[in-house]
Amino acid sequence: MLRWLIVAIGVFCTGRASAGDVIAIAPGVDLIAGSFVPNRQPDGNSLVLRARDGLVVIDTGRHAGHTQKILDYAKIVNLPIKAVINSHWHLDHIGGNPRVRAAFPEVKIYSSGAIDEAMHGFLANYRKQLEGAIAQSKDDAQIAAWRSEILLIDAGHALYPDVVIEKTQTRRIAGRELVLHLQAHAVTAGDVWVFDPSARVLAAGDLVTLPVPFLDTACPARWDTALDDLAHTEFKTLIPGHGAPMSRAQFATYRVAYANLLACAASDKTKTACADGWLADAKALLADADPAFVKRLLDYYIDNSLRVPTAQRDKLCGTAAST
Ligand SMILES: [Zn+2]
Repeated sequence: MLRWLIVAIGVFCTGRASAGDVIAIAPGVDLIAGSFVPNRQPDGNSLVLRARDGLVVIDTGRHAGHTQKILDYAKIVNLPIKAVINSHWHLDHIGGNPRVRAAFPEVKIYSSGAIDEAMHGFLANYRKQLEGAIAQSKDDAQIAAWRSEILLIDAGHALYPDVVIEKTQTRRIAGRELVLHLQAHAVTAGDVWVFDPSARVLAAGDLVTLPVPFLDTACPARWDTALDDLAHTEFKTLIPGHGAPMSRAQFATYRVAYANLLACAASDKTKTACADGWLADAKALLADADPAFVKRLLDYYIDNSLRVPTAQRDKLCGTAAST
């Protein structure tokens, strides 16, 4: 399967550039926005929280340029990065971990333990696909991009957590109280979303992504259930894994659009009808999105994530019979 490569080559090549500026979310809470740029895989959003003992960073991006913005932020405010929380193991969220460790050797990284299985499965397969693609390509820029993906994977344990989140818990991290929610088998086998009760900010990781849900490693139905859990949290602002900050009303729009997309994919409606439904339902959230780009993404995800054999779904949903 060439899932991620197809996404990399066929879809994100047409992605839109977006500013990577620091955006103030609440006192002591800033967003370093991720981006899509042509011919590159995306960076997820990073959220930086000022804590009593230093900075807590939620997700570290993929490319060196994104992670450098986090390190520059720490330099400007003259505070050490004391902790990183990874929402999930996708490379656009953990790829900067080694650079943060190099700059702040004392940093503690928190995440679920799902990366270990991914490293031996999904990421190992992806690495093989990258090697195959490099062997066949004559495009030096593309080869360089793929090589940097391999380098990221080969960072191995530098990507792993120091502290494995095994259950939902309230925890003081660097002196700031945070609620870490563990969600099993939603976007990945182990997702962590974070609620900051003092700022009433919720960092959703890839449980909320725009311009479409990124379903590559997801259990779509359990993701839907996870959105209910987010809705029951008293946040004022929700930070998606990809896309602009959301109010409660905007998140409610996303939730309806997501549920309708799943219902459409489960019906005998055409892919075009489902994509049109998403574009209509999520219209208020998609001001900057190119509809053709959205349709290409949904065309891919309906075929490869939503209309798939039961065995594939059961594996990602953690409901496969053990052998
Ligand atoms: Zn992501």
